Amino acid sequence: MSDKIQENWPQIIKNLVQDYKITNIAYKTWIAKLAVYSVSGHDVTLLVDDSIAQLVQYVKSKYEKPLEVTISEYFDDEYTVHIVNRSQLSASMEADTAAAPAAPSAGIIMNDLNNNLNPAYTFDTFVVGKNNDLAQATALAVASDPGVYGNPLFIYGGVGLGKTHLMQSIAHYVLSERPDYRIIYTSAETFQREFIAAIKNKTQESFKNKYRNIDMLLIDDVQFISGRDSTMEEFFHTFNALYDRKRQIVISSDKPPKDLVGIEERLISRFKVGITVDIQPPDYDTRVAILSKKADLEHINIDESSLHYIAEHVVSNIRELEGALNKISNYMRLKKCSYADEDLTKEVLKDVIAPDEKKPITPEIIINTVVEHYHNKISAADILGKNRSRDISYPRQICMYLCEKYTGLSYAAIGEALGNKDHTTVLHGVKKIKKELETDPQLKSSIEVIIKKLDPPR
Ligand code: ADP
Ligand code: MG
Repeated sequence: MSDKIQENWPQIIKNLVQDYKITNIAYKTWIAKLAVYSVSGHDVTLLVDDSIAQLVQYVKSKYEKPLEVTISEYFDDEYTVHIVNRSQLSASMEADTAAAPAAPSAGIIMNDLNNNLNPAYTFDTFVVGKNNDLAQATALAVASDPGVYGNPLFIYGGVGLGKTHLMQSIAHYVLSERPDYRIIYTSAETFQREFIAAIKNKTQESFKNKYRNIDMLLIDDVQFISGRDSTMEEFFHTFNALYDRKRQIVISSDKPPKDLVGIEERLISRFKVGITVDIQPPDYDTRVAILSKKADLEHINIDESSLHYIAEHVVSNIRELEGALNKISNYMRLKKCSYADEDLTKEVLKDVIAPDEKKPITPEIIINTVVEHYHNKISAADILGKNRSRDISYPRQICMYLCEKYTGLSYAAIGEALGNKDHTTVLHGVKKIKKELETDPQLKSSIEVIIKKLDPPR
């Protein structure tokens, strides 16, 4: 029997996709990641791919019944479908706990708020790899069933890794499925600017109405409001107003909620109640896939080996990958070449790429990266200075630890680079962080985030 289902699986899926009008992106994200695990009598167990193991409940609520109907119709017999992830395989099957349907959108206002979306930032143009598959799948779940699956959705990751692209994909997708939905996508910076203007012009009421009477709010780069108390306060109330009415909120940030220094604890704990997903730097294959997709989209006629050359040398973020490709396409236009081969690519990128050379990590880079991580709270001057309050000495010790790990400098030289500190101070700092790393998972994950920025995987 298992064979029968397995054998007919492609056709079953085809029927499912047709009957339930499953979009191409939904197919790729969910359906293509299901495999027939076992069939016992009339019980069919489907296993979700490990990459979306955490989203199994969503897949269940969304596709278990449709699959049951499709399989039953296909064989003209009753079947029960169980969708599980690997860790549930051995555990007993749970009762179906499908989520409640989405709260209907109240009132209808034509959506004029979406004009700040970039039309190119959709799920279809978002390349999925190991670095972002869970984030993409979660984003799609939230876009398909706003307010139901996880609220808020919190997406974090370093610069140029696709947070904005993913957030806007959600907005586009929701608008395509629910054109009446009132959505605001904005950056925390714009939110702050509008709020300050509203205070100045005494239009707080309309500001409030604008942000609180919507179906979905997407706030990009929330780290920007850290330390800005009145904006934070306003955002807190906006958040609650929407959250209490089960309106979907999506937030992006350059770091996980727990590392957001300068943002009130009560807001951070709100961020944590939903789902948090991260986007990591892309690995080699994903970089090639992204370049290849961009080259296709923009009709840049470039050969495979050039794409590999770029992917090999531009490693830190996707914006830089695109920058390299744009440089080539500009050059081609200027010189009227119709085709870019590896020689041309190397020539055009020679200033950006020093082949086979990894940029050395210097104390200065480490300080800047650590300061950036502790957004707004401290400066490079603080690290170099003498202040010993924990807020400053702790990041300073993290700098010492990272210098020891990455620069190959002596304790004395590290001390000098960090504002003429004594070598015993450095030794002490390094030891302290090493010791705390053994017991403090929060420190461990902060340091991991910083290291990823310093030393992106190749
Ligand atoms: P972030 O907001 O995290 O700084 P962006 O979303 O602005 O990053 O992404 C930077 C650039 O890289 C954008 O042009 C975006 O389209 C592109 N990009 C990022 N991730 C992907 C991806 N997975 N597939 C295709 N393009 C991507
Ligand atoms: Mg962004």
